[in-house]
Amino acid sequence: MIEEANRCLNCKTKPCQKGCPLENDIPGFIKQVKEENLEEAFNILTNTTVLGAICGRVCPHLKQCMGNCVRGIKSEPINIGKLESYVFDNALEQNFEIEKTSQLQGKKVAVIGGGPSGLTCSAFLSKKGAKVTIYEKQPKLGGITRYGIPDFRLPRDIIDRTVEKILSLGVEEKCNQELGRDYELSDLEDKYDAIYLSFGANISAKMNIPGEDLDGVYGGNELLETGRHPNYEGKSVAVIGGGNVAMDSARTIKRLGAKNVYVIYRRAREQMPAEDYEVEEAIKEGVEFLFQNNIIKIMGNDKVEKIECIKTELVQKEGEKRLVPVVIENSNYILDMDFVVMAVGSKANKEVVEKTGLETTEYGNIKVDEKYMTSKKGVFAGGDLIGTKATVAWAARSGRNASEEIAKYLLD
Ligand SMILES: Cc1cc2nc3c(=O)[nH]c(=O)nc-3n(C[C@H](O)[C@H](O)[C@H](O)COP(=O)(O)OP(=O)(O)OC[C@H]3O[C@@H](n4cnc5c(N)ncnc54)[C@H](O)[C@@H]3O)c2cc1C
Repeated sequence: MIEEANRCLNCKTKPCQKGCPLENDIPGFIKQVKEENLEEAFNILTNTTVLGAICGRVCPHLKQCMGNCVRGIKSEPINIGKLESYVFDNALEQNFEIEKTSQLQGKKVAVIGGGPSGLTCSAFLSKKGAKVTIYEKQPKLGGITRYGIPDFRLPRDIIDRTVEKILSLGVEEKCNQELGRDYELSDLEDKYDAIYLSFGANISAKMNIPGEDLDGVYGGNELLETGRHPNYEGKSVAVIGGGNVAMDSARTIKRLGAKNVYVIYRRAREQMPAEDYEVEEAIKEGVEFLFQNNIIKIMGNDKVEKIECIKTELVQKEGEKRLVPVVIENSNYILDMDFVVMAVGSKANKEVVEKTGLETTEYGNIKVDEKYMTSKKGVFAGGDLIGTKATVAWAARSGRNASEEIAKYLLD
């Protein structure tokens, strides 16, 4: 690791930091790694993040910090993710303390949803001395990092140790407590000085194509969240989409014994939101990719039997940033299929959102102002629930930003 750290040029302009959604002081912490001062490296990172052990492993680094690394122009960029998780793994093992202040002593905040955004907001408010309680519907905290990203990408003990560290700041957890089922927003309003909503957006979007209601059609988010899969042994499965959910669904399903797993993506490999190394891994594991193809119909009597697909070409259209997939007429074809997994996008839980009575955006996300405050005074929201770019680091960033706004509100 020291050798990798020594490759860092410690650029004055810090392009890597600008590429990091959390704006971690990357050259600063790497300098401390070079000097073997791992506690100071941890202190520098905890100014901006508490999820380093997770982000170091699952952030799309090549699209963020590492994609901006000057070393990457002529050779390999510094492996910033590995260095970040090295510093955090060591700190969690050695139980290094995170510094606290007492600015918000006596203030009580409820956080609803214990994913990256809620955990980060809770940690930064606790660091300032507030008494934070996280209400979480699942038995454990972690959000999608625990109930979504498979353990072959993110070992569960890493999430456990990260959560323990955050709880050690004095955060209280109330698990198996679902908003809209066990309590309503109004039940908490009198008990807390502020509320932060971070219950995510982990409901699979639909494509609205014929046959989508047949047995054997699943949402990728739900399959990964619940772990309740059908028996794939010897079966053919089509996974529709090109992002993290598609990749994780396809690889999980292949590992669970499916004979054929096809990822059907309407654009080309280069446009896939998933990281290229994940595609590479999936191919090695036997997943097949049908790039520039789209599904248009699912067929069967009661359950999925066949799917109809069509080929696409990519066209540059005026006003569009990305190449647009356009179907090629008469290129339709039929594939025998047993299951279809939709991984074409995620949305917030409409029922739960509606019950809060808060204003929403046209996409069904909770609407916030520039201070992360919802349409109700003292109720803030962040993460996937407000439609931030759906990555761990961006969800964490909105949690940290919101914690600053909540602190200002509490001290006003
Ligand atoms: C399969 C998958 C793989 C992904 N892979 C990556 C990746 O590799 N890298 C990356 O950067 N991003 C990845 N993402 C995106 C990333 O995980 C999310 O953007 C991030 O977790 C959002 O954080 P959040 O805190 O806003 O929401 P979530 O992580 O969804 O957390 C919300 C929490 O609220 C809880 N909750 C929900 N409803 C209620 C309720 N009614 N009452 C109480 N609690 C509730 C949930 O159980 C959950 O714990 C992936 C997403 C998925 C689905």
